[in-house]
Amino acid sequence: MEIPGNVQTVLKALEAAGREAWCVGGCVRDALLGRTPEDWDITTSARPEETLAIFDGRSVPTGLKHGTVTVRTEGGAVEVTTYRVDGKYRDHRRPDSVRFTASLEEDLARRDFTVNAMALNLRGELRDPFGGQEDLRRRMLRCVGEPDRRFQEDALRILRGVRFAAVLGFDESWETRESMDRSCELLREVAAERIQVELVKLLCGNWAGDALDRHPRVIGSFWPEILPMVGFDQQNVHHCYDVWTHSTAALRATLPVAELRCAALLHDVGKPLVFTLDAQGVGHFYGHAAVSREMAERMLRRLKFPAAFRERVVRLVAWHDRDIPRTDKGVRRALRTLGEEELRLLLALKRADNLAQAPACRGRQAEIRKGEAILDRLVEEDACFSLRQLVIRGGDLLALGLSGPELGRALQELLGRVVDGELPNEREALLEYIRKNRTANGG
Ligand code: ATP
Ligand code: MG
Repeated sequence: MEIPGNVQTVLKALEAAGREAWCVGGCVRDALLGRTPEDWDITTSARPEETLAIFDGRSVPTGLKHGTVTVRTEGGAVEVTTYRVDGKYRDHRRPDSVRFTASLEEDLARRDFTVNAMALNLRGELRDPFGGQEDLRRRMLRCVGEPDRRFQEDALRILRGVRFAAVLGFDESWETRESMDRSCELLREVAAERIQVELVKLLCGNWAGDALDRHPRVIGSFWPEILPMVGFDQQNVHHCYDVWTHSTAALRATLPVAELRCAALLHDVGKPLVFTLDAQGVGHFYGHAAVSREMAERMLRRLKFPAAFRERVVRLVAWHDRDIPRTDKGVRRALRTLGEEELRLLLALKRADNLAQAPACRGRQAEIRKGEAILDRLVEEDACFSLRQLVIRGGDLLALGLSGPELGRALQELLGRVVDGELPNEREALLEYIRKNRTANGG
């Protein structure tokens, strides 16, 4: 893969100033894999002040302490970081200090995995002191250096490992995997925001199911709620998997939408808590959706997910076990509460949940398709399910003498009746209804 023109321009300018400059890290890994890199990072022997001066007028000192300068180009921002060595880590998170160095090899040695520790320059030379290329070929994640020590320094690397496994479909080397499980408690000390970023990427990986199946302990370090799911026998003919394997199987059956994947992973998290065994020896999970909902909410708050993300996941979890709406009215009611986008996610979650059950119980797919067909038709017909789509506005009711909370209630009531098919979404009919009812109520 070619280095993009704007990145080449930055590399050339650094070299013209007599400095070394290399593309480094994720972009080199992705280019060698034939994947499109998310962003191209540059590492250079130039000191941050020099980089600032070389790109005077279009450089921003975004992380001077760590040697990072952001250069604005016509093709987007490019981060240029001075070769550096990380100082001692005391808190399993961040180096206490960094030291700049003249050696590319030293800079590569501070990086997490061998496949992330390669550099590529303008002339296509590759620097790969730790065997990253060979590991790419074997689809293998291996720490640069001693895994225990590297995870001690920065425990986030453990979760990054699971993330790269999930996104790239790589396995970990034996030593790296053992160390990930051994060291994962250290992740408790890592900031929630950093965990959240990695977790979202992990969940959306094409191989997320495999990575999660291998590493429940890593996830359990910040979400201990998931640990009882692992190996929990459901003792019910509907299920052929334990709760955790069922959940990762459901996740595998979803498209990579972060909220949907998160809901798939957590939809049954409350099951172990509500488990009962009846006289016939059959397992039941009465009320598990509500308990899962409460737990998911707390788990997402702990990782400081944005409110909109959290609320969506929580609603999907809360609704996952309700009957699939199979009538116009049922679908319109669901649309009113969830909106189209979220209802589609809910149906996708129900489909995935069902696909992850015992083979004999997968007959719900037809019902889900039926619900989806109704949804498609209602959307096509531009059916009314939100205040926005109601043909009258608050102003129309003001003109009839309604105001304040009464007005809001009246609008909701009209919407409810339109959604339920009791009133047409037509101006005269709706106004007439209000007039009548106000007289009837003596208003
Ligand atoms: P992505 O494709 O998601 O951007 P990436 O590998 O580029 O993945 P970044 O977080 O962008 O990951 O980091 C860029 C590079 O910096 C990595 O490839 C790795 O070399 C190094 N790096 C990032 N975070 C760490 C860390 N916590 N410890 C060691 N090296 C790291
Ligand atoms: Mg990157």
